[in-house]
Amino acid sequence: MSNHHGSEHQGRRAVGQVKEVTSLANPLVKDIKALALKKFRDQQNAFMAEGLKLVIDALDLGWEIRTLVFAKAGRGNAAVEKVAARTVAAGGTVLEVSEKVLSAITRRDNPQMVVGVFTQRLVPLKDIRAKDGDVWVALDRVRDPGNLGTVLRTVDAVGAKGVILVGDTTDPFSVETVRATMGSIFAVPVAKATPEAFLSWRKGFPGLVAGTHLKGAVDYRSVDFSGRPVLLLMGNEQQGLPDDLAASCDRLLRIPQQGRADSLNLAVATGVMLFEIRRGALKLETTHR
Ligand code: SAM
Repeated sequence: MSNHHGSEHQGRRAVGQVKEVTSLANPLVKDIKALALKKFRDQQNAFMAEGLKLVIDALDLGWEIRTLVFAKAGRGNAAVEKVAARTVAAGGTVLEVSEKVLSAITRRDNPQMVVGVFTQRLVPLKDIRAKDGDVWVALDRVRDPGNLGTVLRTVDAVGAKGVILVGDTTDPFSVETVRATMGSIFAVPVAKATPEAFLSWRKGFPGLVAGTHLKGAVDYRSVDFSGRPVLLLMGNEQQGLPDDLAASCDRLLRIPQQGRADSLNLAVATGVMLFEIRRGALKLETTHR
Protein backbone atom coordinates (compact mmCIF):
# COMPACT_ATOMS: atom_id res chain seq x y z
CA MET A 1 0.00 0.00 0.00
CA SER A 2 1.28 3.49 -0.72
CA ASN A 3 2.08 5.97 1.97
CA HIS A 4 -0.55 8.72 1.86
CA HIS A 5 0.30 10.52 5.04
CA GLY A 6 3.74 12.09 4.82
CA SER A 7 6.18 10.71 7.32
CA GLU A 8 3.71 8.24 8.76
CA HIS A 9 4.12 4.66 7.70
CA GLN A 10 1.69 1.82 7.45
CA GLY A 11 2.59 -1.60 8.74
CA ARG A 12 1.17 -5.08 8.58
CA ARG A 13 0.61 -6.93 11.83
CA ALA A 14 -0.81 -10.26 12.86
CA VAL A 15 -4.03 -8.42 13.62
CA GLY A 16 -4.35 -7.06 10.10
CA GLN A 17 -3.62 -3.68 8.68
CA VAL A 18 -2.62 -1.08 11.22
CA LYS A 19 -1.73 2.47 10.31
CA GLU A 20 0.65 4.28 12.62
CA VAL A 21 -0.17 7.93 13.12
CA THR A 22 1.72 10.49 15.14
CA SER A 23 0.72 13.70 13.39
CA LEU A 24 -2.32 15.78 14.33
CA ALA A 25 -2.38 16.94 10.71
CA ASN A 26 -3.22 13.44 9.51
CA PRO A 27 -6.55 13.65 7.61
CA LEU A 28 -7.94 10.54 9.32
CA VAL A 29 -7.21 12.10 12.70
CA LYS A 30 -8.75 15.39 11.62
CA ASP A 31 -11.98 13.62 10.61
CA ILE A 32 -12.18 11.84 13.95
CA LYS A 33 -11.43 15.02 15.94
CA ALA A 34 -14.20 16.76 14.02
CA LEU A 35 -16.69 14.25 15.52
CA ALA A 36 -16.63 16.39 18.67
CA LEU A 37 -19.03 18.70 16.77
CA LYS A 38 -22.61 17.73 15.88
CA LYS A 39 -22.29 19.25 12.42
CA PHE A 40 -19.51 16.83 11.50
CA ARG A 41 -21.12 13.87 13.27
CA ASP A 42 -24.16 14.44 11.08
CA GLN A 43 -22.07 14.93 7.94
CA GLN A 44 -20.17 11.70 8.56
CA ASN A 45 -23.18 9.91 10.12
CA ALA A 46 -20.70 8.71 12.72
CA PHE A 47 -19.77 9.09 16.39
CA MET A 48 -17.07 8.21 18.87
CA ALA A 49 -17.09 5.82 21.83
CA GLU A 50 -14.20 5.75 24.29
CA GLY A 51 -12.83 2.76 26.12
CA LEU A 52 -12.33 -0.92 25.46
CA LYS A 53 -15.53 -1.98 27.23
CA LEU A 54 -17.71 0.28 25.10
CA VAL A 55 -16.04 -0.78 21.87
CA ILE A 56 -16.46 -4.47 22.72
CA ASP A 57 -20.12 -3.89 23.71
CA ALA A 58 -20.72 -2.13 20.40
CA LEU A 59 -19.12 -4.90 18.34
CA ASP A 60 -21.00 -7.59 20.27
CA LEU A 61 -24.26 -5.77 19.58
CA GLY A 62 -23.56 -5.56 15.86
CA TRP A 63 -22.76 -1.86 15.48
CA GLU A 64 -20.70 -0.95 12.43
CA ILE A 65 -17.17 0.09 13.36
CA ARG A 66 -15.42 2.39 10.93
CA THR A 67 -12.20 3.11 12.76
CA LEU A 68 -10.50 1.79 15.85
CA VAL A 69 -7.92 4.11 17.38
CA PHE A 70 -5.58 2.78 20.02
CA ALA A 71 -2.66 4.19 21.94
CA LYS A 72 0.82 2.78 21.45
CA ALA A 73 0.57 1.49 25.02
CA GLY A 74 -2.09 -0.93 23.78
CA ARG A 75 0.35 -2.74 21.51
CA GLY A 76 0.69 -6.33 22.67
CA ASN A 77 -2.41 -6.09 24.88
CA ALA A 78 -4.45 -9.19 23.99
CA ALA A 79 -7.85 -7.50 24.38
CA VAL A 80 -6.82 -4.52 22.25
CA GLU A 81 -5.37 -6.78 19.56
CA LYS A 82 -8.59 -8.79 19.55
CA VAL A 83 -10.78 -5.72 18.92
CA ALA A 84 -8.28 -4.58 16.30
CA ALA A 85 -8.65 -7.92 14.54
CA ARG A 86 -12.46 -7.69 14.76
CA THR A 87 -12.31 -4.18 13.31
CA VAL A 88 -10.24 -5.33 10.34
CA ALA A 89 -12.51 -8.33 9.83
CA ALA A 90 -15.49 -5.94 9.77
CA GLY A 91 -13.80 -3.85 7.08
CA GLY A 92 -12.77 -1.02 9.42
CA THR A 93 -9.51 0.85 9.73
CA VAL A 94 -7.16 0.47 12.69
CA LEU A 95 -4.97 3.37 13.76
CA GLU A 96 -2.15 3.11 16.26
CA VAL A 97 -1.56 6.62 17.54
CA SER A 98 0.66 8.51 19.92
CA GLU A 99 -0.61 9.61 23.33
CA LYS A 100 -0.65 13.17 22.01
CA VAL A 101 -2.98 12.27 19.13
CA LEU A 102 -5.31 10.29 21.39
CA SER A 103 -5.49 13.19 23.88
CA ALA A 104 -6.38 15.52 21.02
CA ILE A 105 -9.10 13.18 19.74
CA THR A 106 -10.72 12.71 23.15
CA ARG A 107 -9.85 16.19 24.49
CA ARG A 108 -8.61 14.53 27.66
CA ASP A 109 -5.25 14.52 29.41
CA ASN A 110 -5.45 10.87 30.37
CA PRO A 111 -7.45 9.36 27.56
CA GLN A 112 -8.74 5.79 27.42
CA MET A 113 -6.47 3.43 25.51
CA VAL A 114 -9.04 2.80 22.81
CA VAL A 115 -11.56 4.88 20.84
CA GLY A 116 -13.99 3.49 18.31
CA VAL A 117 -15.75 5.38 15.53
CA PHE A 118 -19.16 3.90 14.73
CA THR A 119 -21.95 4.54 12.26
CA GLN A 120 -24.95 6.24 13.88
CA ARG A 121 -28.13 4.24 14.16
CA LEU A 122 -31.68 5.42 14.92
CA VAL A 123 -34.93 3.48 14.86
CA PRO A 124 -37.69 4.89 12.64
CA LEU A 125 -40.64 5.87 14.85
CA LYS A 126 -43.08 4.03 12.59
CA ASP A 127 -41.25 0.75 13.31
CA ILE A 128 -41.95 0.97 17.04
CA ARG A 129 -44.84 -1.31 17.93
CA ALA A 130 -45.28 -1.85 21.63
CA LYS A 131 -46.51 -5.15 23.05
CA ASP A 132 -47.89 -5.95 26.51
CA GLY A 133 -45.23 -5.41 29.15
CA ASP A 134 -43.14 -3.16 26.91
CA VAL A 135 -42.10 0.20 28.33
CA TRP A 136 -40.99 3.08 26.12
CA VAL A 137 -39.77 6.45 27.32
CA ALA A 138 -40.39 9.68 25.40
CA LEU A 139 -38.29 12.71 26.33
CA ASP A 140 -39.59 16.15 25.42
CA ARG A 141 -36.75 18.43 24.21
CA VAL A 142 -34.13 16.96 26.57
CA ARG A 143 -31.29 19.45 26.78
CA ASP A 144 -28.62 18.00 29.01
CA PRO A 145 -26.33 15.25 27.61
CA GLY A 146 -25.74 13.90 31.13
CA ASN A 147 -29.50 13.54 31.64
CA LEU A 148 -30.00 11.83 28.29
CA GLY A 149 -27.10 9.46 28.87
CA THR A 150 -28.32 8.63 32.36
CA VAL A 151 -31.85 7.97 31.08
CA LEU A 152 -30.50 5.63 28.37
CA ARG A 153 -28.45 3.77 30.97
CA THR A 154 -31.47 3.48 33.29
CA VAL A 155 -33.77 2.33 30.46
CA ASP A 156 -31.22 -0.39 29.73
CA ALA A 157 -30.92 -1.36 33.41
CA VAL A 158 -34.67 -1.78 33.98
CA GLY A 159 -35.27 -3.63 30.73
CA ALA A 160 -37.40 -0.93 29.10
CA LYS A 161 -37.50 -1.03 25.30
CA GLY A 162 -36.15 2.31 24.14
CA VAL A 163 -36.29 6.07 24.03
CA ILE A 164 -38.08 8.48 21.72
CA LEU A 165 -36.57 11.96 21.51
CA VAL A 166 -39.30 14.49 20.85
CA GLY A 167 -38.58 17.90 19.35
CA ASP A 168 -35.26 19.69 19.42
CA THR A 169 -33.01 17.65 21.73
CA THR A 170 -29.40 17.21 22.71
CA ASP A 171 -27.56 14.77 20.46
CA PRO A 172 -27.62 11.12 21.62
CA PHE A 173 -24.31 10.63 19.78
CA SER A 174 -22.35 13.44 21.44
CA VAL A 175 -19.24 12.41 23.32
CA GLU A 176 -20.83 13.57 26.62
CA THR A 177 -24.04 11.59 26.10
CA VAL A 178 -22.21 8.45 25.01
CA ARG A 179 -19.92 8.72 28.06
CA ALA A 180 -22.91 9.10 30.39
CA THR A 181 -24.62 6.02 28.91
CA MET A 182 -21.66 3.85 29.98
CA GLY A 183 -22.28 1.72 26.88
CA SER A 184 -26.08 1.59 26.97
CA ILE A 185 -26.20 3.75 23.81
CA PHE A 186 -25.42 0.50 22.00
CA ALA A 187 -28.14 -1.51 23.77
CA VAL A 188 -31.09 0.89 23.76
CA PRO A 189 -32.99 1.74 20.55
CA VAL A 190 -33.42 5.49 20.06
CA ALA A 191 -35.95 7.20 17.78
CA LYS A 192 -36.35 10.89 16.96
CA ALA A 193 -39.61 12.65 16.19
CA THR A 194 -41.04 16.10 15.75
CA PRO A 195 -43.81 16.85 18.25
CA GLU A 196 -46.34 16.50 15.38
CA ALA A 197 -45.02 13.10 14.28
CA PHE A 198 -44.94 11.95 17.90
CA LEU A 199 -48.53 13.05 18.54
CA SER A 200 -49.78 11.22 15.48
CA TRP A 201 -47.80 8.06 16.34
CA ARG A 202 -49.08 8.27 19.91
CA LYS A 203 -52.69 7.94 18.64
CA GLY A 204 -51.87 4.37 17.64
CA PHE A 205 -50.13 3.50 20.92
CA PRO A 206 -51.90 0.41 22.24
CA GLY A 207 -51.38 0.98 25.99
CA LEU A 208 -51.13 3.57 28.73
CA VAL A 209 -49.52 6.92 27.96
CA ALA A 210 -48.32 8.20 31.31
CA GLY A 211 -46.98 11.74 31.47
CA THR A 212 -45.20 13.17 34.48
CA HIS A 213 -46.00 16.65 35.63
CA LEU A 214 -45.39 18.72 38.73
CA LYS A 215 -49.11 19.49 38.69
CA GLY A 216 -50.08 15.90 37.90
CA ALA A 217 -53.38 14.91 39.49
CA VAL A 218 -52.41 11.31 40.19
CA ASP A 219 -49.81 9.89 42.61
CA TYR A 220 -47.52 7.66 40.48
CA ARG A 221 -47.77 4.88 43.09
CA SER A 222 -51.52 4.54 42.67
CA VAL A 223 -51.40 3.34 39.05
CA ASP A 224 -51.34 -0.30 37.95
CA PHE A 225 -48.86 -0.41 35.08
CA SER A 226 -48.87 -4.18 34.66
CA GLY A 227 -50.03 -6.18 31.67
CA ARG A 228 -50.09 -3.44 29.05
CA PRO A 229 -47.60 -1.40 27.07
CA VAL A 230 -46.59 1.81 28.81
CA LEU A 231 -45.27 4.99 27.25
CA LEU A 232 -43.70 7.24 29.86
CA LEU A 233 -43.53 10.87 28.77
CA MET A 234 -41.07 13.18 30.54
CA GLY A 235 -40.90 16.97 30.28
CA ASN A 236 -38.10 19.34 29.38
CA GLU A 237 -35.68 20.29 32.17
CA GLN A 238 -36.63 23.97 32.26
CA GLN A 239 -40.23 24.07 31.10
CA GLY A 240 -41.77 20.67 31.79
CA LEU A 241 -44.29 19.23 29.30
CA PRO A 242 -45.96 21.72 26.96
CA ASP A 243 -49.77 21.74 26.93
CA ASP A 244 -50.21 19.73 23.71
CA LEU A 245 -47.98 16.87 24.89
CA ALA A 246 -49.54 16.94 28.38
CA ALA A 247 -53.02 16.79 26.82
CA SER A 248 -52.03 13.70 24.83
CA CYS A 249 -51.40 11.68 28.02
CA ASP A 250 -53.95 9.26 29.49
CA ARG A 251 -52.71 10.23 32.96
CA LEU A 252 -50.51 12.97 34.38
CA LEU A 253 -48.57 11.55 37.28
CA ARG A 254 -46.89 13.31 40.15
CA ILE A 255 -44.04 12.08 42.35
CA PRO A 256 -44.78 13.53 45.78
CA GLN A 257 -42.00 15.64 47.27
CA GLN A 258 -41.11 17.22 50.59
CA GLY A 259 -38.59 19.92 51.36
CA ARG A 260 -37.72 22.99 49.36
CA ALA A 261 -36.74 21.57 45.96
CA ASP A 262 -39.45 22.45 43.46
CA SER A 263 -38.78 19.45 41.23
CA LEU A 264 -36.61 16.39 40.76
CA ASN A 265 -33.85 16.21 38.19
CA LEU A 266 -35.22 14.79 34.92
CA ALA A 267 -33.06 11.65 34.98
CA VAL A 268 -33.84 10.99 38.64
CA ALA A 269 -37.58 11.39 38.02
CA THR A 270 -37.32 9.04 35.03
CA GLY A 271 -35.48 6.49 37.18
CA VAL A 272 -38.10 6.63 39.94
CA MET A 273 -40.88 6.16 37.38
CA LEU A 274 -39.16 3.34 35.52
CA PHE A 275 -38.47 1.31 38.63
CA GLU A 276 -42.11 1.71 39.67
CA ILE A 277 -43.45 0.76 36.23
CA ARG A 278 -41.11 -2.24 36.00
CA ARG A 279 -41.46 -3.26 39.67
CA GLY A 280 -43.34 -6.48 38.94
CA ALA A 281 -41.10 -7.41 36.03
CA LEU A 282 -37.81 -7.02 37.91
CA LYS A 283 -37.03 -10.19 39.84
CA LEU A 284 -37.08 -9.90 43.61
CA GLU A 285 -33.53 -10.32 44.88
CA THR A 286 -33.64 -12.64 47.86
CA THR A 287 -29.93 -12.81 48.56
CA HIS A 288 -28.77 -10.71 51.49
CA ARG A 289 -25.14 -9.91 52.02
N1 SAM B 1 -39.59 23.76 35.96
C1 SAM B 1 -40.00 22.53 35.35
C2 SAM B 1 -41.52 22.40 35.42
O1 SAM B 1 -42.16 23.34 35.81
O2 SAM B 1 -42.06 21.35 35.04
C3 SAM B 1 -39.28 21.41 36.02
C4 SAM B 1 -39.05 20.30 35.11
S1 SAM B 1 -38.32 18.90 35.85
C5 SAM B 1 -36.69 19.39 36.18
C6 SAM B 1 -38.14 17.86 34.45
C7 SAM B 1 -39.18 16.80 34.30
O3 SAM B 1 -38.99 15.80 35.29
C8 SAM B 1 -40.61 17.25 34.48
O4 SAM B 1 -41.13 17.82 33.31
C9 SAM B 1 -41.29 15.96 34.81
O5 SAM B 1 -41.46 15.19 33.64
C10 SAM B 1 -40.27 15.29 35.69
N2 SAM B 1 -40.43 15.56 37.12
C11 SAM B 1 -39.53 16.12 37.96
N3 SAM B 1 -39.99 16.14 39.21
C12 SAM B 1 -41.24 15.58 39.17
C13 SAM B 1 -42.24 15.30 40.16
N4 SAM B 1 -42.07 15.58 41.43
N5 SAM B 1 -43.38 14.71 39.73
C14 SAM B 1 -43.58 14.39 38.43
N6 SAM B 1 -42.66 14.64 37.48
C15 SAM B 1 -41.52 15.21 37.84
